[in-house]
Amino acid sequence: MLKLGRTFTTVRDAVADAGRRAFYVERATTDRQRTGDLADVDPSSVPYFAIALLPGAVAAAPPTDDSVGRGVGEVAVVGTGPAGRDWTTPQVAAVLAAADDLVGYGPYLDRVPPNPRQTRYPSDNRVEAERAAHALDLAAAGRRVAVVSAGDPGVFAMAAAVLEVAAQPKYVDVAVRVLPGVTASSAVAAAAGAPLGHDHAVISLSDRLKPWDVVVARLVAAAQADLAIAIYNPRSKARPWQVGAARDVLLEHRAPDTPVVVGRDVGGAGERVTVTTLAELDPEQVDMRTLLIVGSSTTRVVTRGATTVVLTPRRY
Ligand code: SAH
Repeated sequence: MLKLGRTFTTVRDAVADAGRRAFYVERATTDRQRTGDLADVDPSSVPYFAIALLPGAVAAAPPTDDSVGRGVGEVAVVGTGPAGRDWTTPQVAAVLAAADDLVGYGPYLDRVPPNPRQTRYPSDNRVEAERAAHALDLAAAGRRVAVVSAGDPGVFAMAAAVLEVAAQPKYVDVAVRVLPGVTASSAVAAAAGAPLGHDHAVISLSDRLKPWDVVVARLVAAAQADLAIAIYNPRSKARPWQVGAARDVLLEHRAPDTPVVVGRDVGGAGERVTVTTLAELDPEQVDMRTLLIVGSSTTRVVTRGATTVVLTPRRY
């Protein structure tokens, strides 16, 4: 409530009549800042630069100690989408706001708006099983835990790891929910047009958790089936050569002029979406913030005035 001035006592009394507690902030961020309980403020001292804050239900009711350990805990596995808050579903935003604890890879947790009521447990990207067990242990002790991935949590992210660990008998009573998110292939496809408009495959190029032979076999199968292919994790500093090798495998089954969308940091500050061909795909243009979409035989590049769109028609 802004511009309190002469209305101050009316506002204060209305809050009290409603049985609620509001906060008072005056001259915020200046060296004369004053904060406190609205009920404690002397009305004659209230300047123009003052507001009253009435918290919403979630912030007003932090979990009490006696709710801990009574089985109210749960693990919600969420994904924040490919970039900023516009790409997070309202459902996920609400679960993040209500959570007591956030567990996840540090840079992904940094995407969640700060909330001093919450405890954050940032971790390395690689310790998925430990992270999952930690989240389940917190929930077993009565905490509402959000395990935070980017994109969709079920796509090359934490959902499967959490459910794998949750299958252990000792976690049978811990509630686990998986909430869907906007995955990178949807974001990159939309930025380019509709290259995934027909049947397609989704493949991670990382050979950290699966052998490279398996990656190659899947690329060949998808290429032979004439599926468009969304390629996640195409390249990292530790895996620099796989993207060129994948291109060469695909070129054995796809025309050299097959359209390829190179989508980098879509939705973020470093967004760059370019369209090239399979033969001309340059691994140097690809990094770990990039997703590739390789077209099928029917994928077309269409020029509309100054813009180029890529589409795969729904009929064959
Ligand atoms: N769970 C995530 C994917 C995790 S794997 C999801 O559903 O999107 C990480 C890979 O996702 C990256 O290597 C990259 O290929 C892709 N990616 C994630 N965010 C992206 C973005 N904003 N733009 C382009 N690719 C992205």
